[in-house]
Amino acid sequence: MSETQVPVKADASQRSPFPNPDQQTAKKIAQTVERAAKVFADKNLRFTKLRQQVFEEIAATHASIGAYEILARLAEKGTRVAPISIYRAIDALLDAGVIHRLESKNAFFACRRTDHTSKGRRPIFLSCEKCGAVGEVDGQRIFDLIGEAARGAKFAPRVKFVEVQGLCPRCAAGEG
Ligand SMILES: [Zn+2]
Ligand SMILES: [Zn+2]
Repeated sequence: MSETQVPVKADASQRSPFPNPDQQTAKKIAQTVERAAKVFADKNLRFTKLRQQVFEEIAATHASIGAYEILARLAEKGTRVAPISIYRAIDALLDAGVIHRLESKNAFFACRRTDHTSKGRRPIFLSCEKCGAVGEVDGQRIFDLIGEAARGAKFAPRVKFVEVQGLCPRCAAGEG
């Protein structure tokens, strides 16, 4: 065995970015909510009831969800709030990094990676055109290249995320 061989660690960031939506159980959503609550606590931010409710709706789907759909779902459950309150809750969740915005759809999805918050690595978003599923993979090399190319033009880039449209594994296999 040469020195360069390292055992492959099965860390969370190597799981499929497209988990089976049928396995999105209440328990998994609860775990995701727990992780988000911890992020808020670590940053000394308040995970208010409304922020948690909005986050739960976002975490409940592997696709992305728009503000008005969140509003409608909360209303169905008896929580009636003004759109501005939903937008403020979404902003707080975005700032904390527990959700991301899919610019192309102006919709939101829960972050399921830890490396870009803990290690400052930036993801690219993979957005399925057919079923709407959104996944994240590490894209730091792409951001490095963008930065390098822009600096070459003496341009200060403000790219935060890159979105790629296509087909998720299930849709590509005709199962979506
Ligand atoms: Zn993320
Ligand atoms: Zn799909």
